[in-house]
Amino acid sequence: MNIWVKKRYNVSEAKIERGTAMSKEPLFLEPAFQEKIWGGNKLASEFGYKIPSEHTGECWAISAHLHGPATISNGEFKGVKLNELWDSHREVFGNAKGDVFPLLTKILDARTALSVQVHPDDKYALKHEHELGKTECWYVISADEDSEMIYGHHAKSRAELAELIENEQWNKLLRHVPVKAGDFLYVPSGTIHAIGKGVMVLETQQSSDTTYRVYDFDRVDEKTGQKRELHIQQSIDVTNVPHEDPKLETKVAKVGDGMLTTFVQTDFFSVYKLELEGGQSMGIRTKAPYTLFSVLDGHGKLIIEDQEYSIKKGVHFILPFVVKQWQFRGNLTLIISEPGEKA
Ligand code: ZN
Repeated sequence: MNIWVKKRYNVSEAKIERGTAMSKEPLFLEPAFQEKIWGGNKLASEFGYKIPSEHTGECWAISAHLHGPATISNGEFKGVKLNELWDSHREVFGNAKGDVFPLLTKILDARTALSVQVHPDDKYALKHEHELGKTECWYVISADEDSEMIYGHHAKSRAELAELIENEQWNKLLRHVPVKAGDFLYVPSGTIHAIGKGVMVLETQQSSDTTYRVYDFDRVDEKTGQKRELHIQQSIDVTNVPHEDPKLETKVAKVGDGMLTTFVQTDFFSVYKLELEGGQSMGIRTKAPYTLFSVLDGHGKLIIEDQEYSIKKGVHFILPFVVKQWQFRGNLTLIISEPGEKA
């Protein structure tokens, strides 16, 4: 499915050893960064990353997407890109099926609002864009006072949706939702949305880069001197009408000394938050063949059998299939995700 994209990107210089990899080491990842007209510098000031400019919008932290793959920074696969490891050593991922690594974890810094946009589902995206659709979700890391997201719309029918978009009646069309640090929003494909000004989120999503832009606040891109492209017809085609809020059943459970919050468990992915304020917390492999971790705050230790790894805010890693249980110690806030059945 991705052959046409693959040709446009060079593979890494690192040699990939053949054979079956059974190492129980975590795969620590070096993110890729994306400059955006709405981006800022908080990925450096808050997370300590080396960013390419003061307009850096996105840290692609756990990414095998060819538009910005992350690179493994330790162990036998040091220097290998995550997409290359997926292609060459599927046993690391429990021999999971699928042409592409299905998940993408990003941290976004919205110095100003992102465009109002919508993503297609798998069926539409595979047909028209030759890649996966995009269901995403946001964990709000920080938010300025009075921050908000655009989330859903007020149109009752597709005809009304088209009319309000074509007449640029954004106030009538768009639904605004206030947000604060710690909030979680699930954004199924077909949901019109925009991350608001002054918000940082950790986004867990299907590995896709297909965005249909409905409205971009008439902004001009400094680099090109042009407005960014809009995709009005595709947006009208793929938007869910009427908008319905997904029903989330957030669960909180004590795991050792930590608190584990379950935000969503869907066919695409499951997303959890682990908060540990001293002491220890155990994790075990569920049905999912591998697990993704992002440290959003604090520092501590990851322990696998008799090996200890120091981890701190801004570190991202995957625990491969052969790691069946692990332990965290210290003061840590982590977002944890797993692929779902359909991933
Ligand atoms: Zn989006």
